[in-house]
Amino acid sequence: MQTTFSLAQLADSHMAVSEKILRTCVHCGFCTATCPTYLLLGDELDSPRGRIYLIKDMLENDRPATPEVVKHVDRCLSCLSCMTTCPSGVHYMHLVDHARAHIEKTHRRGAADRFMRALLAFVLPYPERFRIALAGALLAKPLGPLPARLPVIGDRVSAMIRLAPNHFPAREIPTPPPLIASPRRGRVAMLEGCAQPVLKPSINLAARRLLARNGVEVIQIKREGCCGALVHHMGREADALDFARRNVDAWIAEMDGEGLDAILMTASGCGTTVKDYGFMLRDDPHYADKAKRVSAITLDVTQYLARLDLQFPNASRIPVAYHSACSMQHGQQIRDEPKRLLAAAGFIVRDVPEGHICCGSAGVYNILQPEIAGRLRDRKVANIERTSPRIIATGNIGCMTQIGGGTQIPIVHTVELLDWASGGPPPEGLANMDLSADHATSPAMARPPLPSLT
Ligand code: SF4
Ligand code: SF4
Repeated sequence: MQTTFSLAQLADSHMAVSEKILRTCVHCGFCTATCPTYLLLGDELDSPRGRIYLIKDMLENDRPATPEVVKHVDRCLSCLSCMTTCPSGVHYMHLVDHARAHIEKTHRRGAADRFMRALLAFVLPYPERFRIALAGALLAKPLGPLPARLPVIGDRVSAMIRLAPNHFPAREIPTPPPLIASPRRGRVAMLEGCAQPVLKPSINLAARRLLARNGVEVIQIKREGCCGALVHHMGREADALDFARRNVDAWIAEMDGEGLDAILMTASGCGTTVKDYGFMLRDDPHYADKAKRVSAITLDVTQYLARLDLQFPNASRIPVAYHSACSMQHGQQIRDEPKRLLAAAGFIVRDVPEGHICCGSAGVYNILQPEIAGRLRDRKVANIERTSPRIIATGNIGCMTQIGGGTQIPIVHTVELLDWASGGPPPEGLANMDLSADHATSPAMARPPLPSLT
């Protein structure tokens, strides 16, 4: 794609990066075939190619974001399916991140939108605030459809209440660190995260147990916090960089102290962002090198586990539908490891039809765009249920919350199943499932494909 940025514009590093990305796009439109919003809405401006044109026009002409640009960029899930499809290697993620930051700087949103976004940015990255908000959402659940009648923000408030679990998640019970099996095979840090330890503390506990059983010491890093992804996706660049710097400081201190073999992520949404810290902080002379080092040793927990020779004494033949989060398959291009590990643990792994299409979670998308997110969730659940699984496994807490709200089939994190099969306790909700029974005779039901999305 030809561009006409001036030399003065290109002196800005964000513009220079975006110009390079724009030049890579050859307008072929292959990406439209796998874009969830284009498939749902059928509008070229809700496709990657359409958004690229809008962003180019806005940046090249140094224009403040118009309401039309804001509408179509806001509707983008940042699922990055378009990056997997694009034959020219267009780095849509960096382009849309730049566009979102430009929108935040140049466009004044309506009062209700500003309020919702400020509230989400104030609450979600902080576990204690998030815990209080969850308590409020639980109290509001009996109100049923009433919150939806609130003027302007009713649909978003009711989406938040709907997404809250039906019971208050148990606080993580302080337990002594699991015993590290001998010989010691590694020393890693694991990001605790912000929403995940409140909603499902059992995930990181399962990961710690599994790693300890296999000789890997997991270091608790006190000063780390939210990875910054939630605010980053809302265009709050300064906030996102602050979160990134804080984590870089915490991890570098440990890397330069006793050393770390890896920094592990149990939420793939966080993994995509932390692996991008090197890019995000490239212009900060105090952090550029350190951030690059952090990104270089960051791995999804399944990438690290796949390098170990895990043993599964309680291997099971339970059919599991594996839902690959967009941040896993598109953001980090991790496809095989989680499925290979589950299969090694005996599970009968079933691929989900249309597995490349987002479930609608996408950070805070299911709160800010509840109508589109709801349609994507229903489609995802229908596709999952067509594989007749006993359990759904995934590697991202956002997808667990989103999909779990639409189905009765239990949904758990991949590491919870691996921990269970390797001798750990059953994940919450699966205590009555018999691991030893052979479920291999429960085939996926043959059903006709769902009608096209459009
Ligand atoms: S597939 Fe890639 S090159 Fe083709 S229009 Fe989409 S982004 Fe551009
Ligand atoms: S990130 Fe997802 S929703 Fe956004 S343009 Fe790409 S494919 Fe479409």
